[in-house]
Amino acid sequence: AAKDKGKNSFHLYVPNLEQAVNDKMNIQNELNRALARQEFLLHYQPQVSAKSGAIVGVEALIRWDHPERGLLLPDQFISVAEETGLIVPIGEWVLRTACKQNKQWQDQGLKPLRVAVNLSARQFLKQDFTQMIAEILHQTRLAPEYLELEITESSMIDVHRATQALKELKQLGVHVAIDDFGTGYSSLYYLKEFPLNRLKIDRSFVRDMIEQPSNQAIVSTIISMAHHLQMHVIAEGVETKEELAFLQEHLCEEVQGYLFSRPLPSEDVAFYLQAQKGVS
Ligand code: C2E
Ligand code: MG
Ligand code: MG
Ligand code: MG
Repeated sequence: AAKDKGKNSFHLYVPNLEQAVNDKMNIQNELNRALARQEFLLHYQPQVSAKSGAIVGVEALIRWDHPERGLLLPDQFISVAEETGLIVPIGEWVLRTACKQNKQWQDQGLKPLRVAVNLSARQFLKQDFTQMIAEILHQTRLAPEYLELEITESSMIDVHRATQALKELKQLGVHVAIDDFGTGYSSLYYLKEFPLNRLKIDRSFVRDMIEQPSNQAIVSTIISMAHHLQMHVIAEGVETKEELAFLQEHLCEEVQGYLFSRPLPSEDVAFYLQAQKGVS
């Protein structure tokens, strides 16, 4: 079946252009129904302190439980959602669900965590974006410091709008991280000008870091630059103890990756937290 081929399975089954267009229209139609039928769900990947190993946050990652194709990863549908604008209502669902879940964990007496939510530029640059965030926080009663928004360098293209949104978010008390840092087309200008809490080092620099001195240079430079600009750093895609040791040595505050945990269904996060009691 298509799902067994994993990522990009739609593309593997495209024999010609006409088929490609049809596939895209099918996904679009199905995405429309998926929201109403509640076929989306979130998995959560732990983010841990590099120093102590204690869990300090989770990143919410969307999944689509497709009635025929099984569990789909974001690579298989997010780009179509972005092109069609459906990412706006889907993204709002993600935000509300992640905040609600985080508040629920807190109400269960679990250690308070940040929840990080990925945003597409189209969502982040909308005029009423911060108002929507304020509304969701109000409705879910989640304290703003427990929400972190992950934006990418592509959101910085509209400097004026981005500046305004970031100022408003700072006033709200919500945290903002730059995701996949170093992979986009961007200038260092905004790092200095924009109120940002965290840089997230892209997995491509963390991977093969031990064999490739150039990656080590990039990673250590990003960390020291961030610290000079009063920002914290998280590294994504940490898979080996050697990578962790390098990041610890260079004072990267937080780490995330398969070395600690894969993205987990919400029930498993509660177990993970229970098991970690005592680690702080
Ligand atoms: P991202 O935000 O950079 O998320 C990290 C991706 O790397 C996730 O893939 C995660 O499962 C994977 N990952 C984490 N640790 C490791 C590791 O140690 N090794 C390897 N090989 N991979 C690791 P996922 O869940 O497939 O998400 C892919 C991308 O889809 C995300 O990249 C993000 O850009 C996007 N995405 C996910 N959820 C949402 C969402 O709710 N809204 C939007 N707009 N985009 C989303
Ligand atoms: Mg992310
Ligand atoms: Mg990332
Ligand atoms: Mg990434």
